Amino acid sequence: TSDAIQLDNTLDTKLPFTDVCTMFEKISSCDDSDLGKKDSFYPIMRLCLPHLDRKRAAYGMKETVLARYYIEVLGIAKTGADATKLLNYRAPSSGKTQAGDFAAVAYFVLKNRCPENGTLMVSDVNCLLNKIAVSNAAHDRVAVKQILQQMLRSTTAIEQKWLIRIIMKELKLGINENSILSLFHIDAVDLFSVCADLEKVCVDLREPSFRLNEAAIQLFLPFRPMLGQRASIPQAVKLTEGQMFYVETKFDGDRMQLHKDGTDYKYFSRSSKDYTSSFGASSTDGSFTPQIHSAFKPEISCCILDGEMVGYDVTDDSFVPKGDNIDVKAFSTQLTGKYEGMQQCFVVFDILMINGRNLANLTLRERALELAQVFTPVKGLLHLVDRLELTSREELVTSLNDAIDRREEGLLVKLPNSTYQPDKRKGSGWLKLKPEYMDSLSDQLDLLILGGYYGSGKRGGIVSHFLLGVAETTSPGNNPSRFLSFCKVGTGYTLSELRILSEELGPYWKPFNSSSVPDSIVLTVGNKEKPDLLIEPEFSKIVQIRAAEITVSDKYSCACTLRFPRLELFREDKEWYQCMTMEELENIKQSSSGR
Ligand code: ATP
Repeated sequence: TSDAIQLDNTLDTKLPFTDVCTMFEKISSCDDSDLGKKDSFYPIMRLCLPHLDRKRAAYGMKETVLARYYIEVLGIAKTGADATKLLNYRAPSSGKTQAGDFAAVAYFVLKNRCPENGTLMVSDVNCLLNKIAVSNAAHDRVAVKQILQQMLRSTTAIEQKWLIRIIMKELKLGINENSILSLFHIDAVDLFSVCADLEKVCVDLREPSFRLNEAAIQLFLPFRPMLGQRASIPQAVKLTEGQMFYVETKFDGDRMQLHKDGTDYKYFSRSSKDYTSSFGASSTDGSFTPQIHSAFKPEISCCILDGEMVGYDVTDDSFVPKGDNIDVKAFSTQLTGKYEGMQQCFVVFDILMINGRNLANLTLRERALELAQVFTPVKGLLHLVDRLELTSREELVTSLNDAIDRREEGLLVKLPNSTYQPDKRKGSGWLKLKPEYMDSLSDQLDLLILGGYYGSGKRGGIVSHFLLGVAETTSPGNNPSRFLSFCKVGTGYTLSELRILSEELGPYWKPFNSSSVPDSIVLTVGNKEKPDLLIEPEFSKIVQIRAAEITVSDKYSCACTLRFPRLELFREDKEWYQCMTMEELENIKQSSSGR
């Protein structure tokens, strides 16, 4: 360690250097050539972490059973002080031993009854423990006692103390299992959490320089991609700890990995399915590969890219979401009918290998630099993901809001320092944010369409976003005559639903004119939120909206608005006057703020 200030209470201030040297002596004196290929730390590890060792069946002994065996095997007087100590190990005693610690009590009883020197090797101990487990399974108590006797004859009292703890599967070292595992290997905790097999951990991770995530990534072999963990905005902000984080669009297509070696290509899906035939196995084969082959820089001979394969509409230069019922893997060179004007576009957000160099253990920040050198983006075919670099909660809220406004499902937040962890979701450093993870409003709201906004691209020329309102509170039996503006919604419906709606409302839209807003529609002073069109309430329709929460706003005459609103349903069954009232809105506001 460094010369920095040492705490007095640390292990190193109590551990004699001579003990460390004794251990060095022992390890170095083991002749390496004797050690077989399968040799590993497992025989020792299973003694260090007995409670994690699932390979050995139960010993069938708790403290009192073991106490009785010891009394019998050692011929201790059954009513004498030592027998009482062992059997009543929980009772407080005047001695130095801690009450309740059977192994420590046993040590004092065994001190004068065990040999001075132990003669067992670690392998002997494991072998004897196996025999106890086998004898216990066969209900052979005589055999169990014989094995205990053999152990007592060949171990010191100190060794007995630790043997008892191993048998009780609790070492009381004061170090938790994860610390012990990670002392052994940096990936041991991760591997154990998926396989729960100490032997596999010790064998697979014998080599300290071997890294699990790198091993999973090999050219032309599929791997399970890294995934995002669900998070709300507060959770995401907490995880980023005030540091800069990347924000990426959540693309709505198919997760795909591209493996390339020269002119040979392979494509695998998230579930490791080979989709090479959908895209093309070489620079001259298939619908997609020949179009991107020349985009790779000449110095890149082989690489593995991770990204999303998305449908791309060439006529209006926009992505076609999978939610619009398209299958990007089914595109072929001759796109007709439903797929007319569409092509496959690979949006790359990660790189795992470049010219044989495995990049899984580089940070995302470093991988992004490598990725930037691999290809020249080709519009509509091969894109490099756009990344925002944000730091604050406000920026994140705004970008999620913008994403929803662009009719995207959500966002991915990625920590710049995260390494690539195949198949990992939890704690991976990638977070998936969708508005529904933040819905604290349990109620759906029935709101009236008051205005419309023209869309762009494929939605150009038709009304794609809506201004929604709430009715003023009226006395029972009376229809409301005034509606207050409340929020804007642009997501939750398909293009065909939008077409039907625009036919129905089409004849009633009136261009917005600030000097002639109908009396039935109340906007803010100065019309802070200006739609392109307005519609008289009696010709309009009710829509059912789901949202994350109600927030204060000066853009709408309600003085509040919805965060992350999505349209759930066109309420054909409701009349315009059955819209939610201000009174109902106040009630929802109060009940949700009390949560
Ligand atoms: P999950 O896949 O998390 O189990 P799900 O099947 O509902 O849930 P989504 O919630 O839609 O999937 O999100 C996960 C998918 O998001 C990933 O499998 C990946 O294909 C996709 N994705 C889109 N954009 C990105 C991006 N920029 N970074 C990482 N993954 C992305």
